[in-house]
Amino acid sequence: MATKYIFVAGGVMSGIGKGIATASIGRILKSKGFKVTAIKIDPYINVDAGTMNPVEHGEVFVTDDGKECDQDVGNYERFLDENIYTDNYMTTGSVYLSVINKERNLEYGGECVSVVPGIPNEVIETIKRAGKKTKSDFVLTEIGGTVGEYQNLLFLEAARMMKFQHPKDVLFVLVSYLPVPGIIGEMKTKPTQQAVKNLNEAGLQPDIILARSETPMDEPRKKKLAIYCNIHPEDVLSAPDVKSIYEVPVNFEKEEIGNKILRKLGVKTRPSEMKEWDNLVKLIRNHPKEVKIGIVGKYFESGKFTLMDSYISVIESIKHAAFSQNRKADIHWISSEDFEKDPKTLKELDKYDGIVVPGGFGNRGIEGKIKAIEYCRKNKIPFFGLCLGLQLSVIEFARNIVGIKDATSREFDKNPKNPVIDVMQEQKELLKNKKYGGTMRLGAYDCQIQEGTISHRAYKDWAGEKSGPYMISERHRHRYEVNNDYRDVLKENGLVVAGINPKKNLVEIIEIKNHPFFVGTQFHPEFKSRPLKPHPLFKEFIKAAIKNKK
Ligand code: GLN
Repeated sequence: MATKYIFVAGGVMSGIGKGIATASIGRILKSKGFKVTAIKIDPYINVDAGTMNPVEHGEVFVTDDGKECDQDVGNYERFLDENIYTDNYMTTGSVYLSVINKERNLEYGGECVSVVPGIPNEVIETIKRAGKKTKSDFVLTEIGGTVGEYQNLLFLEAARMMKFQHPKDVLFVLVSYLPVPGIIGEMKTKPTQQAVKNLNEAGLQPDIILARSETPMDEPRKKKLAIYCNIHPEDVLSAPDVKSIYEVPVNFEKEEIGNKILRKLGVKTRPSEMKEWDNLVKLIRNHPKEVKIGIVGKYFESGKFTLMDSYISVIESIKHAAFSQNRKADIHWISSEDFEKDPKTLKELDKYDGIVVPGGFGNRGIEGKIKAIEYCRKNKIPFFGLCLGLQLSVIEFARNIVGIKDATSREFDKNPKNPVIDVMQEQKELLKNKKYGGTMRLGAYDCQIQEGTISHRAYKDWAGEKSGPYMISERHRHRYEVNNDYRDVLKENGLVVAGINPKKNLVEIIEIKNHPFFVGTQFHPEFKSRPLKPHPLFKEFIKAAIKNKK
């Protein structure tokens, strides 16, 4: 079968779940036995998502091969249960950069390189390469932004050209929104009609419209959209709001979206195998008992984005682990700055079954997080520190157990006396030359797990090894590391180094003894958790939290 390409574009407004729709279509096609991959296109000039503020843009998701992507790529990996690579994330900046680099290398053989078709051709090439690399039957491409805006025109042009080149293998899905204005009290289709007109202007016609709305869409509106948008009523699918994103594929399948897509692309229809996924949704709908987790952080003030977006992979990982224990995660946000203002508020932490200190940058709220970590250590509250969370637990340990009162990280103090967390040598040059974009320690690195640790117990099934030190691989995104000059003194005082990167001799996991669960990881385990395959450390953390249940 020739590779099939599905483009997903958005109408009316952003933030209506295009990413989840794309991921859900992917999951359905995968459940029919096809190999599927998904691509995200962001219209920004930023070459990758690494330089964007998480409060404004949401989490930066990192792939195994070290690409800093939009958070939607995380949704693709979670829904598809497939790894996604560099070619699967494009921005206006990355496409132009690669065309310009080719031009500088004389790869256009002296031609005058025009925006059209130069840029769309580069997009098409990248999409095809992503499909080939993953040997996919279906390549889904989500075009960021909404139709009708200036920024994504060249990507729509790429889609149009692709359809022209492969008319039988390309399909368009428009995810649009049907508002119910309060004063009218009626679901309106006009904005979607306009979105389709905009798409038509770009030379594209949707094959399927996913009509997002608060409540299900009724038949008269379906018919109206069919007439005005030149589409069969059965190809206008109702996609009402759901409580959990994991319900979306199940709802889409009720409308038989999978087989509709196959028929349109000339592929023989097949049943879907979604039993495990259905069971997950049943569990979620059955209101299971809760486990109460607090996340201590600082990216809480929301502009365009909500708090959830800055830490989406952490949140989903906690949920996956809770599901695996037949629980629902009740997640709360705790601002570390409150602990700095009034240390008495630390007692609030007693209310939680477990505490997470996730990744972060800069020194705002740092001292409050360190106080929270100390409180969890002393009061035996299950604690999980991710990246910055590990670094701060090492600082806390150095200050309060080893007695290095001014222990800190070079990230917070440019002239530290005791940088127990220090910048890596190769990073120093980069920072000096302001080479910030895409230069952190990124992507998958090996980590050797030491016997007799919580981590060893947690990872053993995942690694397929029961005894002896064994290797796992996890994804990173940071510039600073535990300073090896302090490793011995930390260990002598009882800090457990449970995982190391053998090649670079770097501390990757720390634990403390005589505690129900106190683990910090230099990597980001949250990037590898999947709904039906929770991450082993999150699972172990949630188990400890359930035991600790208040
Ligand atoms: N700011 C820290 C560093 O760069 C931690 C980064 C993170 O938590 N991802 O090392």
